[in-house]
Amino acid sequence: MTTRAIPFCLALLLAAAVLVFLRFHRPLEPEPAPPASAAQAKAPALSDLAPIPDWDALRRFDGTISRAEFIRQLDEVFTVSPAWRNWFEVSDDHVRIHANPGEHLVLKFAPDGSTAQPPRTWRSIDQLPPAPEGRPLDGVRIAIDAGHIGGRWGKMEERWFQLPGMLPVQEGDMTLIVANLLKPRLEDLGATVTLVRKDTEPVTALRPERLREEAASSSAGGDIVKLAERLFYRTAEIRARAQLVNESIQPDIVLCLHFNADAWGDPSLPTLVPHHHFHMILNGGYTDDEVALTDQRHQLLTNLLQGVHDEEAGISRSVAAAFVERTSMPPYRYDPLARNARNVDGDPYLWARNLLANRLYECPVIYFEPYVMNSQEDHARIQAGDYEGLREVAGQRRPSIFREYADAAALGLERYYERGRRPDPANKSVISPE
Ligand SMILES: [Zn+2]
Repeated sequence: MTTRAIPFCLALLLAAAVLVFLRFHRPLEPEPAPPASAAQAKAPALSDLAPIPDWDALRRFDGTISRAEFIRQLDEVFTVSPAWRNWFEVSDDHVRIHANPGEHLVLKFAPDGSTAQPPRTWRSIDQLPPAPEGRPLDGVRIAIDAGHIGGRWGKMEERWFQLPGMLPVQEGDMTLIVANLLKPRLEDLGATVTLVRKDTEPVTALRPERLREEAASSSAGGDIVKLAERLFYRTAEIRARAQLVNESIQPDIVLCLHFNADAWGDPSLPTLVPHHHFHMILNGGYTDDEVALTDQRHQLLTNLLQGVHDEEAGISRSVAAAFVERTSMPPYRYDPLARNARNVDGDPYLWARNLLANRLYECPVIYFEPYVMNSQEDHARIQAGDYEGLREVAGQRRPSIFREYADAAALGLERYYERGRRPDPANKSVISPE
């Protein structure tokens, strides 16, 4: 080899090294753990019965949210720790989101102060025209989701108890009574109302027997029969309702009706407690483990980018105020050490939590948790059943617990829409429910 050939060889070697580096080094990809098999390496981490999410669908939100608002909502509403930054790499003008394994989605931010309307099927109060006199809910599309299934499924779904010699208490039946009372009240105010379920049968076509295989492969562990039942009444049922809400009903808001309870122990010899309480649940407070699941990260982002939170907070605040006015129930207190709930705006009645229903329904979800079914007072009122007018129950003359619930919910909605839809545009800014 002549001395003149040495620089040429060095250049060749250098070029080869650069090629090898480019082939094997992808600087932006996270280093994956050694895969057990190629198929396993590609499988995204998913919640029970969740389909692989369509990340491309989120491209429609490109340029619709400012950087400051994006970070604020993730920090203050949707998560409980800064660990979300492992999945969302925020730059000056865009965010790079870890999507399915090996894939990323890049979304550009809108300039600060920009008011681009996010694409969505539901309408916030700002998008609704002024309402005619006496019909503040005119044209508002509302879905009422009576929580749980009830009927012959109540014992399986563990929302049933019965004191010896008394009537059974079954949440899924009670929420349906409230739904049927609330529907005509909201229609009188101008709303178009759809019940997500009309009877005490499941919306899903799946049954526990068909979910045993999924139960066996579930990470939860334990009794397969019980796991399959839970996958049926909790997971498959709510996923079926979400499909109905998102694809067919497409409402402006969903009302999720529930009755709360404290631990009652043996359902045939339940414990009654002396106090009751009330709170409303907004979507948020995703734990680090939940943000790490591909489908939950996708759904978090969908809710955030659609602007669900502000509308949920406004309506929930108005409804909570009406409930407190009518019932004087104290707020439910979350364990300050619990890492799965966040208070909203300092209102003691509003809490952000990541529940399957408020995560999956792609619109503002007004999620009610009033009363304690096994409190002495509310239990006596449930035993009295539904009735018109006032009656002496548990030492007070009062309406039935079901009518009180429906009336307070209707009042909170009426006030929210009435304030925001007055014909005078000068009143448009007076939306704050206080
Ligand atoms: Zn419930």
